[in-house]
This record gives sequence, structure tokens and C-alpha cells, in this order.
Amino acid sequence: MKIAIIVPCYNEEEVLPQTVEKLRLLIAKIKQSAGCDPHILFVDDGSRDSTWQLIKHYSKEYGCVDGIRLSHNEGHQNALWAGLEECNGRYDAMVTIDADLQDDENSIVEMAKMFMGGKDIVYGVRRERKTDTMFKRLSAQAFYRIMRRVDNEMIYNHADFRLMSARAVRALLQYRERNLYLRGIVRMLGFSEGFVYYDRKAREAGESKYPLRKMIRFSIDGITSFSDAPLKFITFAGLAMTFISFVIIAYALYEHFTGKTLQGWTSMLVSMWLIGGVITTGIGVLGIYIGKIYTEVKNRPRYFISDKTY
Ligand code: UDP
Ligand code: MG
Repeated sequence: MKIAIIVPCYNEEEVLPQTVEKLRLLIAKIKQSAGCDPHILFVDDGSRDSTWQLIKHYSKEYGCVDGIRLSHNEGHQNALWAGLEECNGRYDAMVTIDADLQDDENSIVEMAKMFMGGKDIVYGVRRERKTDTMFKRLSAQAFYRIMRRVDNEMIYNHADFRLMSARAVRALLQYRERNLYLRGIVRMLGFSEGFVYYDRKAREAGESKYPLRKMIRFSIDGITSFSDAPLKFITFAGLAMTFISFVIIAYALYEHFTGKTLQGWTSMLVSMWLIGGVITTGIGVLGIYIGKIYTEVKNRPRYFISDKTY
């Protein structure tokens, strides 16, 4: 039984040595308890620090470590995709986990056991978020709430820490969309599922590569890739506003014919801004979807591999 542990890394030189040590300990444990032979694949997502040098060094030192390097920073989701494509066909199961090991790597033992018990996809689900900042916790909660409404298949508090069987990965790789939101697609595969619960830890070293800006972009991506609810919402909002404006027109005509025309300056100004705001938002939402169509239609390659340790 061959298992790959895929680890995307972007500027992770500070945490990488610890990651390697911990994963090596874990691998020894899995070999003993679950009787299978895991391998690590680091995907360097175009880091600008010494991450790649470290990966090369560790792969020389330890037989169980491999690495590929993307020619450019393509983002977490694409890095995961690159790792899965690279391992596809060579392993019986693939686990994806972040380089900072905020997700408890020891859960992989349980994942492997569930896999051998016949589960195709095993999700790592965070039980607690004690170590995240208040802001991260609240924003994540709000996001999962919205996402749940938009896509009720969504698993609360599951990020991209999961195990997938070879056939689940093969199925996943058939989704050709460029706007990747993996945790949404994986749910659509329909193979047998299992869950492993763990407490999320603080980052061991280095800082988050997901600043607020990227988090917002990723949330919008998640929602708009899995739902056209925002489009429906703006249509209804537009209809409601049209209806309201009929009432206002009737009122304005009445005011005109009863001779009090100079009044209503305030309501003019207010409604002008309100309508302007709603229209602009509507155009913005349309723009997001059109933007997605644009990237899908161009169908550009997701990444290029510029280097391998093997
Ligand atoms: N990552 C990546 N490419 C990027 C940004 C992040 O491969 O452009 C990796 C990063 O190295 C880490 C994982 O994605 O292994 C998750 O990032 P991070 O831990 O910074 O996010 P957070 O846990 O703060 O949401
Ligand atoms: Mg992290």
C-alpha cells in the first residue's frame, strides 16, 4: 500500500525543517501501525526564499522525501492540484496537508486506517479553533455559514486536509475548471466518505500566506464557483427596487399636482445614491461571473513544473 503526503509550500523556509522532522516521525509510526509505506511530496509553489534548496537537501538526505517546483507562484489550490497530478497513478492514496502543520499530522494514521477499511475520501475536520486569532475565527465562521447556504454539501471547518484514494483523485482530476475550489469539488465525487476530527494548532513558524486580501478573494471564489445565488439575488433586488420606484413615482406625481414640488430634495438624493449603489453592486457581481467565464474560456495551463528532485 503506497500513500503520498502532498505538502504545498510557499516561502516556508522557517517551518520546513520542523515539518520534515514531524512527517518523518509520522511515517515511521504509520509503517509500524498501519503497515503501509508513505512518501512525502513537497510542491514548492514558486517560493522566493530558500524553500526549494531545503527541499532538495532533504530529498537527498531522506529516501522518503521528494519535491517538485512550480515555475511561478500559482496559489495553494493549484499547488495541491499539481501535487495530485504528479502522484496520480503512482500511489494508492494521497493525503494533502499544509506545510505549517496546523492540521494535526497524526490524524493521517487514522485516515490511512479508514482508507484501508474501504473509505475513498477521508476529511480532516477541525474541532476547535482556539489558536486562531479572534478575527480569523469570526471571519471563517461567517464564510462557512454563507457557503453552507450556497452549497449545502459543504463541510463545516474542513479545509484541504484530506485523504483521497487513487480512484477519487482520478475522478477529481477530470474536473477541468480553472477557478479551483477543491473542497467543493471533492464533495461532488460521491465516493464513500469518512471523517477524522482534530484540534487545529498554531502555525509552528513563519507567518500566514493567506492575508485578508487573499482570504476575501478565496471566499468570493468559493461562493461564485458553486452557486449562481448572487445573480438571482441581484435580479430580485432589482425587481424589488423597480416596484418601490413605482410607489415613489406615484407619490411624486401626487406631490406635483397638489403643488408642493420643491419638497423631496432629500428623498431624491437618498434614492439616487441607493439605486446607484445597488446597480453598481449588480454590475460587480455580473463582472465576477464574466471574469470566471473569461478565465475558463482561455483554458490556460494551470502550472509548469520547472524542477524535480527525482
Ligand atoms: N501556499 C501555497 N501557495 C500560496 C499560498 C500558500 O502553496 O500562494 C501554501 C502554504 O505554504 C501552506 C498552505 O498553502 O502550506 C496554507 O497556507 P497558510 O498556512 O499560510 O494559510 P492559513 O493556514 O493561514 O490559512
Ligand atoms: Mg496555515
